Amino acid sequence: MKLYNSLSRTLEDFAPLEPGHVRMYNCGPTVYNDQHIGNYRTFAFADTLRRWLEYKGLRVTQVINITDVGHLTQEHLDSGEDKVMVKARELGWTAEQVAGHFMERYFQDRRILFFQEPAHWTRATRYVPEMIALVKRLLEKGAAYAVGGNVYFDVARFPGYGKLSGNSLETLKAGARIEINPEKRNPADFALWKTDAKHLMQWDAPWGRGFPGWHIECSAMSMKHLGETFDLHTGGEDNIFPHHECEIAQSEAATGKPFVKVWLHARHLLWDGEKISKSKGNVVLVQQLLDKGYSPAEIRYVLVSTRYRQQVNFSWDLFDGARPALRKLAGFKARLAEAAAKTDGGKAPDLEAVRAEFEARMDDDLDVAGALGVMHGFAGQGNAALEGGLAGKGARETLALLDRFDGVFALLGGGEERPPDEVLRLGGERVAARKAKDWKAADAAREGIQALGWAVEDTKDGIKYRRL
Ligand SMILES: [Zn+2]
Repeated sequence: MKLYNSLSRTLEDFAPLEPGHVRMYNCGPTVYNDQHIGNYRTFAFADTLRRWLEYKGLRVTQVINITDVGHLTQEHLDSGEDKVMVKARELGWTAEQVAGHFMERYFQDRRILFFQEPAHWTRATRYVPEMIALVKRLLEKGAAYAVGGNVYFDVARFPGYGKLSGNSLETLKAGARIEINPEKRNPADFALWKTDAKHLMQWDAPWGRGFPGWHIECSAMSMKHLGETFDLHTGGEDNIFPHHECEIAQSEAATGKPFVKVWLHARHLLWDGEKISKSKGNVVLVQQLLDKGYSPAEIRYVLVSTRYRQQVNFSWDLFDGARPALRKLAGFKARLAEAAAKTDGGKAPDLEAVRAEFEARMDDDLDVAGALGVMHGFAGQGNAALEGGLAGKGARETLALLDRFDGVFALLGGGEERPPDEVLRLGGERVAARKAKDWKAADAAREGIQALGWAVEDTKDGIKYRRL
């Protein structure tokens, strides 16, 4: 299997450090707002990567972090305010409430989109002792220095600084137009610990009461669960610098060992040709897509259907296109399931050839578009075979292979489709009206639901929904 390593800037053959076991860390969300569809494309890439490794029979220990402290509004300058704190002030909530709220929204979106649960969720505020221990270690090694209650990493003491991003200390120095922090020995030095009497979240540390820097969080949390050297570390392309560059510097300076074998970065997507940003007004959330009537599987289809390091342009049209594509695959699966129950007959497609082609596509740096193309070709061949009388054992084997492929994409078996909120609200009204024997109101609610493209069925277990 080949993966594109951002560190070596080449496609590399991948083999885990420990045979049969892959240790992977995915940089997760900073929980100060809702994650948008572009963020989910990066998370979907990590989910697909794990599913593919598991398809290949590897055990995967996956860690995803939740950043709830230390991510600053001007991270590239290592300054500004804590994003969670800014939000807390805006909403009049506590920092804990902000983090809890957006974390729950993130978990809910993940469930809707059928993402797998990692072995560990690492929430930064719950790992402060580990971070303090790592900062101590860096101070002892002379790779960091404390001044005025703050601790900085001394980039000049780590010769490998810049190896991931390609930034040299010279270019960074030349680019440092902003007012230079007089505490820093070098403008590229970055904070491991900050003291700030106004910060809502503070912990005692030997060099002052304060909070950890965003970069040290990921180093401390990943090494805690995955060891000092592990296989894969993923993130969005904007994480390369400064976040991941700094993670490498501080981890390797502390341990003297290589931190991560393969760095993988998802390219950011565009929406209608533009970068997704609040100022452009094109921040699309999962909930908005559901409200527009796209099913979780349709959203997922779009998220998983282009290779992670390819620039991709999203638009509503792209989501519209997912429906017929999915319908074709789902129709194939339904016909196979029907034929599987019948007596043996007909001839199955060459399953071995289809399987080999699918695996070759995925092994080629997760060529998901190619692999989905193989699935569509398989549906074409399989449908022809069904028309030629394929049934029984051959249909069961064909279905088993389709299910196996779907384990990688989770598009065809992933639970029931969740109707949009408006349908659920009307459903609630219908239940209440029926209870009150207000048949007119109950009928009105049903008609409202139908107008939104859904059918309802009243069962003894409650209301059931089906897309019309
Ligand atoms: Zn991180």
